[in-house]
Amino acid sequence: MEVQTIIKKFADWEFVNTEKPFLIAGPCSAETEEQVMLSAYELRNAGVEVFRAGIWKPRTRPDSFEGVGSVGLKWLQRVKRETGMLITTEVANVKHVYEALRAGVDILWIGARTTANPFAIQEIADALSGVDIPVFVKNPVNPDVNLWLGAIERLQKAGITRIGAIHRGFSVSEHSIYRNPPSWQIPIELKRRLPDLPLLCDPSHIGGKKELLQSLSQKAMDLNYDGLMIESHPDPDNAWSDAGQQVTAASLKMIIKSLVLRQVNPEGISYDTLEDLRFRIDKYDNELMDILQKRMETAEAIGRYKKQSNMTILQPDRWGEVIENSLEKGRKRGLSDRFTSKIFKAIHEESINKQTAIMNGESGLNGQSNKGK
Ligand code: PEP
Ligand code: MN
Repeated sequence: MEVQTIIKKFADWEFVNTEKPFLIAGPCSAETEEQVMLSAYELRNAGVEVFRAGIWKPRTRPDSFEGVGSVGLKWLQRVKRETGMLITTEVANVKHVYEALRAGVDILWIGARTTANPFAIQEIADALSGVDIPVFVKNPVNPDVNLWLGAIERLQKAGITRIGAIHRGFSVSEHSIYRNPPSWQIPIELKRRLPDLPLLCDPSHIGGKKELLQSLSQKAMDLNYDGLMIESHPDPDNAWSDAGQQVTAASLKMIIKSLVLRQVNPEGISYDTLEDLRFRIDKYDNELMDILQKRMETAEAIGRYKKQSNMTILQPDRWGEVIENSLEKGRKRGLSDRFTSKIFKAIHEESINKQTAIMNGESGLNGQSNKGK
């Protein structure tokens, strides 16, 4: 059965009010009972209904704070009992799942490092078999939509019907203003493949700093996300993990209030101009594709020349010249260096692939990427 026929629409999750962006907030880590309770009361008073706190923390380096462990579940239970908020925490293995279920945790989430590991996901899915609990799956650390989709499918096959996704950005080697660059195209593709899948944005882990939270959250709203997961701490500067990206409940409230919520199909407006503009966009996209085709055909001709003359595919000086010229031309046209260099690197990579196929005597019938493993 197709996975999208199983996933329940967000509007069918009994605790979801789709009038406003669904919001999960709370500290990166539960640190002490006092910190958890203070955070929960402040957030509840700011209108938050779902409280998060990490108890088992997957840290990149072993000497960082790795979470308080199971004792934190008692603090979360107290939050639920005293404030009436729903509680959620990250589970990364079967032991976490059993303990969280036993403690009455309302919603589980699976962290980015776990999503990247199909064995771990399968074990979690098996442990959840027959349990009707909502589960959010964060994107895997690596920018691979199939890995994300695969994790969702494993949970779906275990019978979980309330599955959502959380976009928290991806690890990349290039330097960026983001802690985990968003690569928005990946969650957009996930949404295209699973249109009913609730999708939240976690601007805290994408941005890595509080200054980026507002603009990332607004962008998520403009891309039609269903909600947000944001890290909030009563004393962000002294948080035991992810201090730079956490905000107080008061700042969180301001961020949420500042968001402009737009609709996919607002009523009572004329679409004439939008249709017009879209017509133009489609026309330019077609022209772009035609030009790209011509460029690739020319690259193939060069490939045949290089093969005949026993020349290497990569000619470093020439490539340097191409990228420099393009950056210069891009600047004159108001295109950022980042954008131009991304486009030209992608074009160059495709040209190299075409020329490699020619060197290896392949038919030149490519464009086929390495599909599903
Ligand atoms: C977290 O939410 O605190 C966390 C560890 O997230 P991620 O899995 O996205 O790194
Ligand atoms: Mn965190």
